[in-house]
Amino acid sequence: MDSFTRNYVDRFMADVIARNPGEAEFHQAVREVVESVAPYITACPHLMDKKVMERIVEPERILIFRVPWTDDRGEVHINRGFRVQCNSALGPYKGGIRFHPSVNLSIMKFLAFEQTFKNSLTTLPMGGAKGGSDFNPRGKSDDEVMRFCQSFMTELFRHIGQDTDVPAGDIGVGGREIGYLFGQYKRLRNEFTGTLTGKGLGWGGSLLRPEATGYGLCYFTEQMLGTRGESFAGKTVLISGAGNVAQYAAQKAMRLGAKVVTLSDSDGFIYDPDGLDEEKMAYVFELKKIYRGRIKEYADKYPGSTYYPGERPWRIPCDIALPCATQNEIRKEDAEKLVAGGCMCVAEGANMPSTPEAIHVFQENGLLYAPGKASNAGGVSTSGLEMTQNSMRQHWTAEEVDSHLRRIMSDIHAACLKYGTNEDGTVNYVRGANTAAFIKVADAMMDQGLV
Ligand code: NDP
Repeated sequence: MDSFTRNYVDRFMADVIARNPGEAEFHQAVREVVESVAPYITACPHLMDKKVMERIVEPERILIFRVPWTDDRGEVHINRGFRVQCNSALGPYKGGIRFHPSVNLSIMKFLAFEQTFKNSLTTLPMGGAKGGSDFNPRGKSDDEVMRFCQSFMTELFRHIGQDTDVPAGDIGVGGREIGYLFGQYKRLRNEFTGTLTGKGLGWGGSLLRPEATGYGLCYFTEQMLGTRGESFAGKTVLISGAGNVAQYAAQKAMRLGAKVVTLSDSDGFIYDPDGLDEEKMAYVFELKKIYRGRIKEYADKYPGSTYYPGERPWRIPCDIALPCATQNEIRKEDAEKLVAGGCMCVAEGANMPSTPEAIHVFQENGLLYAPGKASNAGGVSTSGLEMTQNSMRQHWTAEEVDSHLRRIMSDIHAACLKYGTNEDGTVNYVRGANTAAFIKVADAMMDQGLV
């Protein structure tokens, strides 16, 4: 990076940090993008003059609201609700809703910012947003979750709509929560529209939406491996998380011939040296969806496996790592363990699961490494396909949706190669994804004037 560009990055980040104090995750996400796209921006005076990047880091709208609800004993609780509508240059705002006690403004802003670039990569007409609450669904009854979702939507409904902002699920928000949110939205608006995605199959949902993030991650990873003449076949794979993304990533990796040996949750991880199989996966689906159980129960059920409380899986030797739990779950020391254990490829199912120091370790050691905004874009892509089906009042077959998903992931991979291939033929997927995504958003913003 030349000194003019380095100065631009330093001044830009100093301003972002001063204007958004204490928002560490947001700063981290912005820095990654700005470092990638600064050479492009500084070579385009019109983007500098019109302060396009300065506008992108300032969300178009941020909503913060009170969410009061009562538990089954009649006690009153108050949570905080968020919706960050980051950028609508490419289409209606689109992005998930997260229910987790860690949710705060910094996390919402980083996710909405990432989503803007991810949605750009999908090539579908979607702007970027994210929302959520510090509500913890763990241990709550169905009725409590329903009352919370209804209260949350009682404020959110006035800010969203099928042509305005279309939320979906994320951590802590799956099919059950989308159902309750949709029911309340429909009641308040008195209309049945595709304003949420991830809906039930019988009432407007798309086939393969639950599978899409995990499957798309594996399709993208296959393409990455293909650049080195490799594939999933015979590879040992570590997966973190045991939720929506992790489950379907594990299923697809397994079906592509890999041996998946770990899953985790926030309490610890299980290691199964024999690898998951269809029967074990069926047990995990049931454990999580029906019983809302913990992953440690896997080790009780399958005696050859071991549960490691309070640990993450990264010290287990592997060929491929697919982090699918949460942000910053791979730190520098974890990345070093992955390298020492023979890992050749890291593709992110979660959003920003690797710290900048961990990414540096991957890149220094020549690993194939893809950021979540490229590799996990299959989920939002299929949400976009759900929106299309809702607008057309059609229902596509699983094969049709899957072929769209494969094509989109392949196109995203091609965009990463176009902007991320180094002179020596290696690929910097971070630069490739950020640059391809930025150009599309920036061009649309230039076309639409100063709004
Ligand atoms: P789920 O709620 O279905 O599952 C999340 C999993 O991650 C759970 O096993 C959970 O464990 C674990 N987890 C959550 N927080 C932590 C933490 N702080 N430390 C360790 N483990 C944690 O969420 P999803 O599978 O939908 O989402 C996982 C990741 O993928 C997130 O980063 C999300 O933003 C991203 N993503 C999701 C998409 C989707 O379509 N759902 C699309 C694109 C990205 P526990 O039960 O203990 O909380």
